Amino acid sequence: MKNRTLLMIPGPIEFEPAVLAAMGAPTTSHVAPDFIEAFGQALERMRTTLLSTDGQPFIVTGSGTLAMELAGANLIEPGDRALVVNTGYFGDRFAALLEHYGAHVKQVTAAVGSRPSLEEVENALKQERFKLMAVTHVDTSTAVLTDVRELAALARRYEMLIVVDGVCSVAGEELRMTDWGVDVVLTASQKAISVPPGLALLVAGPRAMNAFRARRSPVASYYSDWNNWLPVMEAYEGRKVGYFATPAVNLVWALNVSLAQILAEGLDARFQRHRALGAACRQGIAALGLKQVPTPPEFAANTMSAPRYPQGVTGADLLPAIQKAGVTVAGGLHAGIRSEYFRIGHMGPTSIGDLLATFGAIETGLRQCGYRFEWGAGIAAAQAGYQDAMTPVTAKA
Ligand code: PMP
Repeated sequence: MKNRTLLMIPGPIEFEPAVLAAMGAPTTSHVAPDFIEAFGQALERMRTTLLSTDGQPFIVTGSGTLAMELAGANLIEPGDRALVVNTGYFGDRFAALLEHYGAHVKQVTAAVGSRPSLEEVENALKQERFKLMAVTHVDTSTAVLTDVRELAALARRYEMLIVVDGVCSVAGEELRMTDWGVDVVLTASQKAISVPPGLALLVAGPRAMNAFRARRSPVASYYSDWNNWLPVMEAYEGRKVGYFATPAVNLVWALNVSLAQILAEGLDARFQRHRALGAACRQGIAALGLKQVPTPPEFAANTMSAPRYPQGVTGADLLPAIQKAGVTVAGGLHAGIRSEYFRIGHMGPTSIGDLLATFGAIETGLRQCGYRFEWGAGIAAAQAGYQDAMTPVTAKA
């Protein structure tokens, strides 16, 4: 019997064996020729994964919060105005971080599980000029997906930078940096990028790099300062050695393997597979009679889902029962509704088989909690939702 549970939280996730093998390989020098090649490739593959033609990639040791800091510390100067499109906990964090670096922050908010409309965002833009708009692509506390394409179009029209927190979206949700006019995308290794936690990742487009070069004041963080990292990234991409701080060598090897897998799958195919996993999960949840945090469903992410507990069932009872049935899911995170919902991650290498196993465990848990539903309904609906979304329209006719 395999003594393991399936890790289905919204990061970290289950990783591919080849990625884990790279993590466990003997550590090389950070100036070894083969490592220089791997780092250089990883930088190029970051740019390709973000669908950026001209962005500057940064690969830095740290978590996703450092990636947010790499954006905020380098782009904000004291007194700058910033707009945060807030869809949950990580919007709050972005606002606090930008304020920490001296920004005057205005937030456009929405009810929990919803998102501000484009009109609401535009109204804020009409009232004052902002240097930067910060958007969370998928807020992991609510599973709400924002419309980055439309928000980027607004940012272009109002001549401001748009910074996207793609920690829970990159390499899962569709995101086209150059085509959509997005200035900065930041992410972390442990979600759809599919590498164990420990890398802060960011790609900055030309407008963001120009804003950085036009700074009048020094960057207030030493470790995050792009002045320290830019020569290192340029060196490795030029297949030379650069040093500011020792890279997390094994994580970079693993990142290069994972990015190669992501690009081998093909970004369009990957976005579609995530859409299908998202549809499968939402349909499975609905078939069990559970509500979901994002409303309406068009606001729901494809990398994760956030089902509400049915009446009479608590997380304290359900989550351990799901765990006992072999699957780990996550509890609530948003302070306003923490005890009312749980979270399922379905990104990266997650297969429909993993998701069906998850529904098996959820159904077992719900039964043990005394909740009544048609046995197998969640599994069947998830299966159907996935197949529907993956079958080309021509094949259905
Ligand atoms: N942004 C989002 C959308 C996230 O989901 C997370 C982590 N869950 C972060 C930022 C912060 O990343 P980390 O926990 O790796 O610092």
